[in-house]
Amino acid sequence: MDTQRYYIREIEEKIGEAAAKTGRDPSEIRIVAASKTRSIETLKGLDALGGIAAYGENRVQEFLEKYDPALNWHFIGRLQTNKVKYLIGKVELIQSVDRASLAEEIERIAAKRGIIQQILVEINSGEEENKGGLALKDAYRFVKSLEAYPHLLLKGVMAVAPLDIERQKLASLFSGVRDFYERIREEVPSADTLSMGMSHDYITAIECGSNLVRIGRALFERLS
Ligand SMILES: *Cc1c(COP(=O)(O)O)cnc(C)c1O
Repeated sequence: MDTQRYYIREIEEKIGEAAAKTGRDPSEIRIVAASKTRSIETLKGLDALGGIAAYGENRVQEFLEKYDPALNWHFIGRLQTNKVKYLIGKVELIQSVDRASLAEEIERIAAKRGIIQQILVEINSGEEENKGGLALKDAYRFVKSLEAYPHLLLKGVMAVAPLDIERQKLASLFSGVRDFYERIREEVPSADTLSMGMSHDYITAIECGSNLVRIGRALFERLS
């Protein structure tokens, strides 16, 4: 028996309020379910309710075990170059592109398979060690370097903020990433996605301009 209750309608309501606060249409803001550790049955149950744009996985092995082409998939975790080959053709968007060797390998595999792979450039907004993503100061040059890769389509920017920082600091980090995204948008016509915000910080992220939130726990569990 399916006893899972999902919290998507409540999240949509909060997204609507945050969007309204910044004068935006809530329909511009997409929800990606951060689906690590959730079974494919769970994800299908959630998908049946509507409102989820994609399922974002963190680990290639786990993704391959639950992959079902009926759902739309993103990759949102740290990606080793030698695993790129398992993703191309299966995921709509790779959100976590943060270094030249990775971009090069995505280009190589996508070219070989005749695919245009959509990507986001990941920013490490808090410049935390042991976290993926580029420092903001290095990100513009990296974006320019992507012009050499005809099988990559740059859709925008993704950022994970540090946990446990005060709201004002969080808003300042998110706004810095948004300013960078706006700068990129002036030069990259395909860029339309700013992926910021998780269960604990998606409201602030939307208030700072995010149009794609990656939500895990708040979709699947009652958070206190
Ligand atoms: C797990 C994860 C999320 C979602 O985190 P929650 O706190 O469960 O909402 C978002 N983005 C990335 C990159 C993740 O790994």
